[in-house]
Amino acid sequence: MVAPSVAQARRVAAALLDWYRTEARPLKIRERRDAYAVLVVEVMAQQTQISRVDQLAQRFLERFPTLDALAAAERAEVIDAWRGLGYNRRAVALHDAAQQAVAGGGLPSTHEALMELPGIGPYTARAVAAITAGGRSIPVDVNIARIVQRLIGAVPPLRPRELQIAADAFGDVLEPGLAGTWAQAAMDLAARVCRRTAPDCAACPLKKSCQSAGETFAAPARRTAATPFPATRRWLRGRILDELRDAGPAGVSITGARGVHEKAAVELALEQLVRDGLAEQLGSRRYRLPRAALKS
Ligand code: SF4
Repeated sequence: MVAPSVAQARRVAAALLDWYRTEARPLKIRERRDAYAVLVVEVMAQQTQISRVDQLAQRFLERFPTLDALAAAERAEVIDAWRGLGYNRRAVALHDAAQQAVAGGGLPSTHEALMELPGIGPYTARAVAAITAGGRSIPVDVNIARIVQRLIGAVPPLRPRELQIAADAFGDVLEPGLAGTWAQAAMDLAARVCRRTAPDCAACPLKKSCQSAGETFAAPARRTAATPFPATRRWLRGRILDELRDAGPAGVSITGARGVHEKAAVELALEQLVRDGLAEQLGSRRYRLPRAALKS
């Protein structure tokens, strides 16, 4: 098993937390540290740039300031408030999670119990537990995985279970309540210093404790040319959802092509949006955001 020694984990903790005291990214979203707000932010940050989340999470939290407010909202309101964030199925999952949590008496505090909620994966559950409830397990996403593996010189890359064990070994030496801060510091270091292809080891606070310091990391070769965004299914789904958001409760008739997507592709996208709980069909071609009765 590849894992840091206690001495390495202690040196990393001291240097990383010290660096974070002066170099943390100035994110407004970090001012709220209650479990509900952190959950919202972590779900948003899964697939959306943090600078965008920093702007849009404020708007979402003003509209739904508490877990109860989110759970009581109509599905259409939640999808509407997700505008600009993309990957809209996350809004449906977050809404489901809020309703299930409220039905169970509130958000649980452990990552194991948080993972029982719909759409809440291991990273999000550990991040919420560590930042808000003293959880000791380090959340591992692609950025923290990169730092952990470089620190311990893991080649080839670790499997997910090994990676979690290695990350938790860095967390084991922390004072209670600091795992969330360690993770946020590691995220900031990954974004600003330990970048994927051009890590700035000379400026890194961890360079004396890192087994990969000074190595170069080539960008992985692209296997296929990237599809232009307007030609993707994601663009089409986002475009249709924005039409439904603009239409309001009366809905809108959606027919014909959108951009480079022909009529058949639009019809398929609508079918999928209905199946994913993001749209509701009113007539043969009329749709709106879902306004079905709330779950009891
Ligand atoms: S020394 Fe280099 S490879 Fe190691 S954590 Fe710092 S930036 Fe990343």
